Amino acid sequence: MLSGYIPEFRTRFRATIMGIIMGLLNERIQMMPRKELDELQLKLLKAQARRLYELSPFYRERMKAKNVTPEDIRTLDDSAKLPFMTKKDLRDFYPDKLFTVPRREIIRYHASSGTTGKPTIVGYTRKDIDMWAESLGRSLTSVGLGEDDVIQVANTYGLFTGGLGFHYAAERIGAAVVPASTGNTERQIQMIQDLGVTAYAATPSYMMYVGEVAEKMGIDLKQSTLKTGLLGAEPWSDKMRDRIQSQYGIRGINCFGASELSGPLFTECSEQTGIHFWKDVALVEIIDPETHEKLGPGESGEMVITMLQKEAFPIIRYRIGDITMLEEDTCSCGRAHPRITRITGRVDDMLIIRGINVFPSQVEHCLNTNPEVGNEFQILVERKGHLDEMLVKVELKPEAFTDNILELNALRERITSKLRNSLNVGAKVELVPPGSLPRYEGKAKRVKDTREI
Ligand SMILES: [Zn+2]
Repeated sequence: MLSGYIPEFRTRFRATIMGIIMGLLNERIQMMPRKELDELQLKLLKAQARRLYELSPFYRERMKAKNVTPEDIRTLDDSAKLPFMTKKDLRDFYPDKLFTVPRREIIRYHASSGTTGKPTIVGYTRKDIDMWAESLGRSLTSVGLGEDDVIQVANTYGLFTGGLGFHYAAERIGAAVVPASTGNTERQIQMIQDLGVTAYAATPSYMMYVGEVAEKMGIDLKQSTLKTGLLGAEPWSDKMRDRIQSQYGIRGINCFGASELSGPLFTECSEQTGIHFWKDVALVEIIDPETHEKLGPGESGEMVITMLQKEAFPIIRYRIGDITMLEEDTCSCGRAHPRITRITGRVDDMLIIRGINVFPSQVEHCLNTNPEVGNEFQILVERKGHLDEMLVKVELKPEAFTDNILELNALRERITSKLRNSLNVGAKVELVPPGSLPRYEGKAKRVKDTREI
C-alpha cells in the first residue's frame, strides 16, 4: 500500500508546487504596474518586428514598402509605422503562405468560419497553443474562476476555435470541463444541474435560448449553481446582458477573440467595465477607418491588433473590422492592462440604408428599450426601385403577444417611431409571435440584405 501511496503523493506534491508557481507568475503579470508592462510590451514588439523582417519575405517586403526597418521601432507609438494586415491578405496567401515556422513545428490547425470565400487556416506551434491557453486562462481567473469551478463549454468543437479555446483555458486554471459543444439543449441543461456547472461558455444568443428552454422544462436557472456566462463571438448589447443577468441570475461576461488571433483570448474582469487585453499578448490600437490615423483613448474607431508572441502565423496590425474604444486608465480591479469598451459594430456589417449608416447593434439596443419585446429579431433589407427598404421583424414576449389587432398596431407604431428616431432612417416593423424567428446555435445571423451591390 505504502509503495503505491508515495509515488502518488510525490506526483500530487509536484503538481501542487507547479500550480503554486504558475499561479504566482499569473498573478504577477496580471497586477504588473503600467510602466513595467509598457517596457515588456515594447521589448516584445521589437523582437517580433525583427523576427518577421528576418524570417518572412511577406513582412520584409511590406515593411520596405513603408520604408521602415525593425530599428525604427523605438517606442510603442512607433507601432504606427508598421504595415497593416487585412482579411484579404489572409485569403490571398491561403492556406499557409504567411506561416513563419517549418511544417514540423506546427502541432494544430484551426480555420475561420469562411462565410465569404475561402476560410482562413491558422497554424499553431506548441508555444502558440500554450500562450492561447495562458491568455484566456488568465482572463478566467480575473472573473474569479478557478479549481472549484465546473465550466461547461457550449461553443463548437472542431475547426472553429471556440470550443477548444475555452476547453484548454479552463483546464489550465484547474477547473473541471464539460465539453458539451453545441446542440441538444435539453441535455445541456440536464448537465448543468447534474454536474453543478458554475460557468457556461456560449454565444449570448445561445445563452438566452438555453434560458428559454430551461423555463419550458420548468427549471429556474436562478436556483441553479450556474452563476457565470462566458459570452462572445457575436455582437450583443448591455440591455441583452441585463436580461441574462436579471432573468436567469447569470453574470454575463463579455469575451473577445478571433481565429486569426488564435481564438477566444480575452474577457472582462469581475468589474465588467471592458475587456482587458493582456499587454504581453497583444497590442491594441484604435484608428480612423478612413484616414488610418491613430486615435486616442475614449475615441471610437476601428480596432487594429498586433499579436506579440505568435510564432506559426504572426499577425501584425491586423484590421479586424470591429468598432470600439480603448480605455488606458488602470481598472478598478487594479489591473493596468488596457480595456476595450463594448464593440458597437463592425466596419463590414455596417448597413447603409438610404445613405445612413446603420449597425444591427443599434437596432437591438433600441428594440430592447421596449419591455414587450423578446430576445430575437431579424433585419431584412431589400431595394424597391431605387429605394432601400428595411423591415425589422420583432419577436414579442409570450405575455405581450395578443390577438387584439388594435393593441398590436399601437405597439408596432410605437416601436416604428422609436426606431426612426434612433436610426435616423425609417424602417417597417412587423411583430411576430414568440418562438417564430430562427434560433442559432452558433453566431446569430440577424441581417438579410438582398440588395445587389
Ligand atoms: Zn479590470
